[in-house]
Amino acid sequence: MTPPFPFSAIVGLADLRLALLLNAVSPAIGGVLVRGEKGTAKSTMVRALAALLPDVTTVAGCRFGCDPAVPDRECPDGPHDAGGPVVRRAAALVELPVGATEDRLVGALDLQRALTEGIKAYEPGLLAAAHRGLLYVDEVNLLPDHLVDLLLDAAAMGRAYVERDGVSVRHAARFLLVGTMNPEEGELRPQLLDRFGLAVDVAAPREVDERSEVVRRRLAYDADPVGFAAAWASSEDSLAAQIAAARGRLASVVLPDGELRRIAGVCAAFEVDGMRADIVVARTATALAAWHGRPAVTGADVRDAARLALPHRRRRDPFDAPGLDEEALDRALRDAAPPGLDDDPPPSGPGGADPEGGGEAPEPGGDGSSAAAPQPGGTSTAPAAPPYRARLLAVPGTGSGARAGRRSPAYTRSGRVVGARRPDDRLVSVHLPATLLAAAPYQRARGRAGPLRVETADLRATVHKGREANLVLFVVDASGSMAARQRMRAVKGGVLSLLRDAYQRRDKVGLVTFRGTGAEVALPPTTSHEIAAARLRELPTGGRTPLAAGLHTAARVVAAERRRDPYRRPLLVLVTDGRATSGPDPVTVAPALHGVACVVVDCESGPVRLGLAGRLAVALDARYLRLEELSADGLRAVATGKAA
Ligand SMILES: [Zn+2]
Repeated sequence: MTPPFPFSAIVGLADLRLALLLNAVSPAIGGVLVRGEKGTAKSTMVRALAALLPDVTTVAGCRFGCDPAVPDRECPDGPHDAGGPVVRRAAALVELPVGATEDRLVGALDLQRALTEGIKAYEPGLLAAAHRGLLYVDEVNLLPDHLVDLLLDAAAMGRAYVERDGVSVRHAARFLLVGTMNPEEGELRPQLLDRFGLAVDVAAPREVDERSEVVRRRLAYDADPVGFAAAWASSEDSLAAQIAAARGRLASVVLPDGELRRIAGVCAAFEVDGMRADIVVARTATALAAWHGRPAVTGADVRDAARLALPHRRRRDPFDAPGLDEEALDRALRDAAPPGLDDDPPPSGPGGADPEGGGEAPEPGGDGSSAAAPQPGGTSTAPAAPPYRARLLAVPGTGSGARAGRRSPAYTRSGRVVGARRPDDRLVSVHLPATLLAAAPYQRARGRAGPLRVETADLRATVHKGREANLVLFVVDASGSMAARQRMRAVKGGVLSLLRDAYQRRDKVGLVTFRGTGAEVALPPTTSHEIAAARLRELPTGGRTPLAAGLHTAARVVAAERRRDPYRRPLLVLVTDGRATSGPDPVTVAPALHGVACVVVDCESGPVRLGLAGRLAVALDARYLRLEELSADGLRAVATGKAA
């Protein structure tokens, strides 16, 4: 077997290295979320870390990895006899594939056997396999929400819990959780983001020396993995020993009252929600002290811990920049310093400031756009009004629920039970009344002499109704008539609000714009709402209005996406005043969009109204809303073109 790339041979990435090592020392920190572009050695480092984790001893034959010294009292394979045979093995490295099902993750009860044979059989999932090891989720941002929830619940409680139709199984699942993601492919919901203990942004190194060293080592490893690993074996051994030693010291590290107060002060200064941040910073600082062999937590430990634990907890909006302002951190640390310790300015951590990372956060409330400076050719870039809570726009009918989300009604794996059906493959949820009704007519034929006899053919599965995610394709009129009377500011604010709503509902989004001589796919369908927001903010306006071209382009995008992702239902949101000053009558394009759910957002304003958008809405069989009606909170000043 090819040995993994050695952890100690990885160049740079000091913050990530530290975050991973600290979690190896103290998995209670809650894992690491690694954010960065592709090709930044994220996966290499995670796999390398697993090789450094101490071996584990388990009860022989236990599929849940019980420690013979303290076996899990609820272990489904238990109870285990003290003094029975044991097995020693390497700590597990379990990778959760993005396409994994809930059954695969948490394990599943074989309901069919339970009901027809009376056997309670439970197949352990990946959470059981990862117990006492490392659970790695690449592209965690692409995992369905309910799986991320299950994953983070297990990580927080150190236990997995499966319950279906009143039959339940619990087992220990303590693991070091590492998730990686490329933010360009879509963000993680903020509610999930802050449940990772630490978060690190990584970027490829800019230094020429560092870059060439990365390549040199990579080539050497690829040419001779075994020889390369052998050359690094002694550094790996000492790193592994350091982890084991720090684990041993962890329980005896003291967290002085003064430092605890400093932690509370810093968390309060950064306005994080709840108490989780304080606890994570405290655990991280304690692990740091154990790592450095210190008997007590110092101010420097608190600073480094805060740098790793706070950045992802203070993001208020998906469109804010990541990272932590280091100057603000130092100020908060000074302000929260324990009495008598003010002369101890915490030194910078081993990672130092991330030259790329952040700090450049836009001021709160600002819309981050450039000024509305007129540009040549009669175009301008209007700023956007601040976003607000948008009204829910949904696709009519009931979708297949193949794309988990929160927008349109759909048949889903969870949610309200609305009926029963014959199970198609594996029975995961029994509709008991329907099953009994199906079995009832055959009782005499089955020679029933006593309790009801249920056979496989009688089994009925529940049908659930919940919500699914969609493709929300924005088709935005950027022509001169829209630019007039500062209308574009309100329009951008409205579309930004819908965009943020789409982010929270897990939709894919796309952007088609039209002005001047034609239409443009400003953003093909993507899960990256941040890029969509940026494109919208930069959107120049001016010129004539080729509305028909905009609709044609939208129809083309919808058709292409339907081939790529046939289970995702589209919702087209057309934002226009309905005036077409170039090209054919837009009503003639309606047949190309037949069967596509549309919403027309009418941006017409002023004393004389032509009602053209309303006419178009009828032709498209679309829901019709005025721009002012987009807010979930009723009519608001945001849509009235109020000056900035
Ligand atoms: Zn066990």
